[in-house]
Order: sequence, then structure tokens, then C-alpha cells
Amino acid sequence: MSALDAGWISSEGPAVRQFEREWASYCGMRHGVAVANGTVALELALACAGLEKGDEVILPSFTIISCVLAVVEAGAVPVLVDADPETWCMDVDQVAARVGPRARAVMPVHIYGHPVDMDPLLALAARHGLHVIEDAAEAHGAEYKGRRCGGFGTMSCFSFYANKIVTTGEGGMVLTNDDATAARLRSGRNLAFGEPRFVHRELGHNYRLTNLQAAIGVAQVADVDDRVARKRAMAAYYGERLSRIGCLQLPVERPWAKNVYWMYGVVLRDDAPLDRDAFAARLRGRGVETRPFFVGMHEQPVLRAMGLFAGERYPVTDRIARRGLYLPSGLALTREQQDRVCAAVAEVLR
Ligand SMILES: *Cc1c(COP(=O)(O)O)cnc(C)c1O
Repeated sequence: MSALDAGWISSEGPAVRQFEREWASYCGMRHGVAVANGTVALELALACAGLEKGDEVILPSFTIISCVLAVVEAGAVPVLVDADPETWCMDVDQVAARVGPRARAVMPVHIYGHPVDMDPLLALAARHGLHVIEDAAEAHGAEYKGRRCGGFGTMSCFSFYANKIVTTGEGGMVLTNDDATAARLRSGRNLAFGEPRFVHRELGHNYRLTNLQAAIGVAQVADVDDRVARKRAMAAYYGERLSRIGCLQLPVERPWAKNVYWMYGVVLRDDAPLDRDAFAARLRGRGVETRPFFVGMHEQPVLRAMGLFAGERYPVTDRIARRGLYLPSGLALTREQQDRVCAAVAEVLR
């Protein structure tokens, strides 16, 4: 492996820069700043968005805690919108009503590989002067109207965690088209070393990615399209076999979307003969591992204890959080394994 042979194990090696360049270019952005994971990518992006204490960031209730964490760490206030019942992404129609005088940013999250409906969101953000901080951690290679996710935001954030489509084990990146923002991101990731060195005008973090991980990333970028094609083929195969099961809601792909089906999610409809946890347990009994959907941010005890989201209701999120799970979706999954999963699902739901 050339990164090892060259002795470049630290975060200043050429593979980091190559990974940044290639991923930014794949997503149609000018700058990439590689970081240690997707959570700190979001934290760094929000730290560089110029937010002041009490400013508001609008984001989906149905997402991972990393999104809210980044908002709170930046001293800002998370403001939620419910999910679309079919794409499971933020319901863009609900955003306008949540834009108050303190709103400064909106954070679309492309859930399970399906893009957010970006055009109305970008128009709204432009109208109100909001930053758009994309979380494309689950949408490597996904497209909105022919343009790749991660290419729309003021900044866009990626995770390269082990279960993501492109992975470096642990890893992340922030992309931007803005030169000054890129410089701030680079400084913030590396302890905000100033000039002269060891004189600091801001507090940064150590969010660096190692050259070793970046070398793995470079190799993965080279076959991202193949990985995405395999995810889509896997989803098509599941879709063919599961569409006959009436009580199961399957993932959708809007006409303007290219879904990469990072995870193949299913939601039990009201006429399903059992609840989600029983469904998962019965599948496990047949050797099929599943994972439940996210639990809404408004239901998180730690956030409620901070006084957030009191009395707020997000019924679509509640419904899919309770009735959704994802089926085995790893790239190593074979057709035979998918057949076994589908047979088990059909048996349990009969
Ligand atoms: C995985 C993920 C993250 C966090 O990435 P890590 O690398 O695990 O910190 C953030 N947002 C979304 C939508 C994710 O799926």
C-alpha cells in the first residue's frame, strides 16, 4: 500500500488531499476538507457557518442524533420539521412555516439514500438568506434532477463510517464551493493553528483524518459507481419480491430522484398482522437480522431534558419510527441471501 510505503501515516500526507479533491469533484464541489467522522463534519460545518447563540437551524425530526448535536454544539437552536411519509426525508412543504426571525440555516438530510426535494428548499433558503448545510452521509452517489447530492449546500457533509457506501472505517468530509469557508474548515479541523505557529486566534479541534484512511478512501472513490449500481440492483431485487406483500410499504424513488438505497427500509402498514418489534424478532428467529428506523429527535430524553421540543408533534416521524426497519442491505449480500430474507418476510407476514 503506497501510503504505508511512503511513510505517510499522519494527516498531512498526499492521500488526504487526493481524497478531498476526488470526492469534491465527484460531488461537483470545489473544496473538500476531510475529517475524522461524519458527526464532526457536521459540527465543523456548523461551527464555520457564523451562527450566533440562539440562532435557529431547521432540520428533520427523523434523522440521526449527529445533526441535532452539531446544532446544539454551535450554540444554536434546532427547529424540527416532520418527515415525508414516502421518501422519509424532511417534508419540504413544512419548512416555510418554521422560518422565524432567528432562522439562519436549514439542514436537509438525504435519508437512507433518497434525496430531499432540493429545488423548493433552495428557493426558500435563498429568499430568507439561510445557509444550506446538506447531510449527505447516506446518499453517496444519489442524484437530484441529475445532480449529485452533496453538491447543493453552502456546505455539505459526508460520513465514511464502515456501513456507508464509500467507507474509510471511520471518516468524514465537508465540501464547499466557497474559498474562505474552505480555509475556515481547514483551520478548524486542525486546532486553528495561527501565524506564527502556536498563536491561536480561535479555538479549533483535532478533527483530522489520517493519510492511511484517506488512501482507502481514494481506492473506494474509484469504484463508487459500481457500489451504487450494486445497491440499486439489490433494491430492485427486493422490490420485485416484496411488492406482492400488501402490508409492507417499500422505499420509493421520486421521478426527480436517483435513490442509492443505502439501507433498504420497509414500514409495516396498519393492516400488518404484527408490530415492528415482533416482526423483527420473528425474522431474527429465522436468521434474518434487521435494524429499527431512527427514533424522532423530539422523543430523545436527552434533548427533552434540555427543554427542547416540548409539546411538539411529528406524527409521520412517530409512525415510521415505530413501524419501520431495514432489511439486510450490505454490499456483500448475495441473491441467495436476499431470497432467504424475502421468504422469511413473506412467511412472517402471512
Ligand atoms: C452516519 C451518519 C452520520 C454520522 O456519521 P459518523 O461518521 O458515524 O459520525 C451523520 N448523519 C447521517 C445522516 C448519517 O447516516
